[in-house]
Amino acid sequence: MGKARLSAWLSVLCACVALVLCGFFPVAFVVPAHAADALMVGVPADRCPVFYVDAESGELTGIGVDLMRAAAEEAGYDATFTVVSEPSLKEALDSARYDVVMPFGSAITSGAGKESIVSDNLIQTPFTLVTEDQRDLPDLNELHVGMLSSLRGGAETVRELYPGMEISFYETMPDAMAALRAGEVDALLHNSYVWSYVLQKPAYADLRVQPAAMFSMDFRAGTLDTPQGRQTIARLDEGIAKLSDTKRQAIVLDHSSRRLYRYDFFDYLQQYGLVVALLVLLFASLTIITIQRRRAYRLEQEEKMRWLMDHDSLTGALSADGFKKRVAELLGAHPDVPYLLCYINIKEFKYVNDSLGRQAGDDLLQFWVSKTQETLSDMEAVGRLDGDHFAVLRHEQGEDQMRWDDSQVIESVRNYFVDRGKEYRVHICGGIYVLTPEDYVQVNVDRMLDYARTAERRVRDTRDDGYELYNPDQWNRGKRTAEIIARLPFALRDGEVEVWYQPQVDYRTGEIVSAEALCRWKHVQRGWLSPAEFIPALEEHGLIYELDNYVWERVCADLRRWNQQGQRRTVSVNLSRNDIREGTDIPAHFRSLVESFGLDPEQLHVEITETAFVEDPELLIRMAAELRALGFRVEMDDFGSGHSSLNMLKEVQVDRIKLDLRFLSEAGDPERGRIIVSHVIHMVDALGMQLIAEGVESEAQARFLEEQGCHQMQGFYFYRPMEVAEFERVVGQGS
Ligand code: C2E
Ligand code: MG
Ligand code: MG
Repeated sequence: MGKARLSAWLSVLCACVALVLCGFFPVAFVVPAHAADALMVGVPADRCPVFYVDAESGELTGIGVDLMRAAAEEAGYDATFTVVSEPSLKEALDSARYDVVMPFGSAITSGAGKESIVSDNLIQTPFTLVTEDQRDLPDLNELHVGMLSSLRGGAETVRELYPGMEISFYETMPDAMAALRAGEVDALLHNSYVWSYVLQKPAYADLRVQPAAMFSMDFRAGTLDTPQGRQTIARLDEGIAKLSDTKRQAIVLDHSSRRLYRYDFFDYLQQYGLVVALLVLLFASLTIITIQRRRAYRLEQEEKMRWLMDHDSLTGALSADGFKKRVAELLGAHPDVPYLLCYINIKEFKYVNDSLGRQAGDDLLQFWVSKTQETLSDMEAVGRLDGDHFAVLRHEQGEDQMRWDDSQVIESVRNYFVDRGKEYRVHICGGIYVLTPEDYVQVNVDRMLDYARTAERRVRDTRDDGYELYNPDQWNRGKRTAEIIARLPFALRDGEVEVWYQPQVDYRTGEIVSAEALCRWKHVQRGWLSPAEFIPALEEHGLIYELDNYVWERVCADLRRWNQQGQRRTVSVNLSRNDIREGTDIPAHFRSLVESFGLDPEQLHVEITETAFVEDPELLIRMAAELRALGFRVEMDDFGSGHSSLNMLKEVQVDRIKLDLRFLSEAGDPERGRIIVSHVIHMVDALGMQLIAEGVESEAQARFLEEQGCHQMQGFYFYRPMEVAEFERVVGQGS
């Protein structure tokens, strides 16, 4: 058994040795030759390039690390570096996690109040002050400096060097910078290697290193003053002693020459702010320009589309639809412009196409349009309705213009082929419709074209060539209106317009009690014009106010003259409904008129036609009230002409009603007319208003009115309107 046991034990022992040799057992089992040489070094990591974490490898590195690693190697240590987790190196000294902590300028007391020892100097590190560019620093001993809290260890060395220096601590570099900028400290103190890194930040571009205030500090590793610590330091010192200056410089150069500072977003903004702003501006401008270009292009395309839809592609004239649209637009935009619409057709155009060729036909049409377009203004239009049918909207400017159009445009079209050496004269038939005022209110281009076409057909059926008017009356009226309008300023200036007076009598006494002023125009070419002819024309063209104002002034002048002669009279003047619509302050105007002529407002009676009251009752009622309040007498003219005369009586307060017999005697049974007149007289009387009958032409009428209680009368039976001289004579005789 003894032999077998021994061999068993031997085999187990052999197996164990084999396992150990194969490395199966943990190394702890074996005590390696270098185990005691591991050195844990605690360092800060916020002091690039002295201590920092490499962005690529994620390892702690830096001048301090490399120096220490080199020294440790020389001393036979395998150094591992770790970031101290304590608030400062002072506290880190007390931690058992690290064999040594660094860097220290000199030995200091630990956070727990224990003594420490430090290694020999690894390198002399320059410490410099940094401050704002322009700031002057006091003496170093009176300086208030800021340092990072993690440099508290170093601060003690500084205090030893400069006992008078006041030191404040800040957790982070931005905090320290803010304090410097706020003037809390005079300067910041740090390792110049670190400054070379920190000052790369664009936001600190205005800070300067103060070379004059530079001093150097030792760069040592430290640990608590224990036997073990002393042993480690002594061994490290041996390694440090072996470090050559070249090696040290190489390490410093290696890290300080690296571009370690990395820009963050704000750095870029700070550094390239202007460039970025310019780029943004450029980008924004380009975007706006692009958008606008696109919009312009789109609008242009739309415009092109619209143009194509509204135009005839062969001639460039408006298409039928385009023409109708344009006519409606123009009439809306120019309601005061007299227009005529021509419908024009080339007779036997088919022959042109068949015998001279289609191209010749097209050329003729194009020539026609271009010739017409040359003569048209922006407020006129030409359209090709279809084939050889054209329409032209033309500003109507009298016969001269028509003759000119015929000789300049139509004639050259007639001779188109003749002028090009072919014996063929083109025949043109035209129909003209002269637009009436209603056409501007109710725009119906189809109807106008129909009228013009009807006139054109009359020409085509009876003749080879020429044109005809659809509505010559309208043409003549237009012609007269044009003459009247063109002449008015000269007529007023040259005294062609006169004020005539028609006496108003009291039938009972035969006395002339008042008169109505009626204007008369002695036109140079056309003799005496009736107001019925020129007043509507002037109203239509917005010129009536000029005439009325002239009349009122003349009446006022006559009244003043009579006053001066001791003959105080009253006169009724007519107020056009267009005078009111012009927006003029009529009551104020009348007041200033009587004031400037020195008249009593009662002498001026203002006649407003009943239809004006019907059209705009509110305005007229208000105006009548204002005039009466100013002392003028207001009369309702042409009573009976409107469609709601009785209703008007209910609403309106006037001084006198002018009952127009002509309206009442015109239609129907005379007996019924008399009944109405009789009732109106009683009603007006009952309403407390005065009444005058106008248009009294016979004794019978006068007597009937008298019997019914209407005494004031005006009419041809008594007097016709007469010139002022005759009126003065008549009134003189009467009075
Ligand atoms: P109206 O104000 O009703 O003037 C009375 C019209 O009747 C006058 O016509 C007068 O000549 C006419 N007349 C007077 N008695 C008789 C008669 O017995 N039988 C007939 N058949 N007619 C008689 P006139 O002067 O031709 O004026 C026509 C209208 O023109 C006036 O009607 C008035 O509305 C307007 N008018 C005349 N002068 C002026 C003026 O200066 N300014 C304005 N805005 N309108 C005026
Ligand atoms: Mg009148
Ligand atoms: Mg009247």
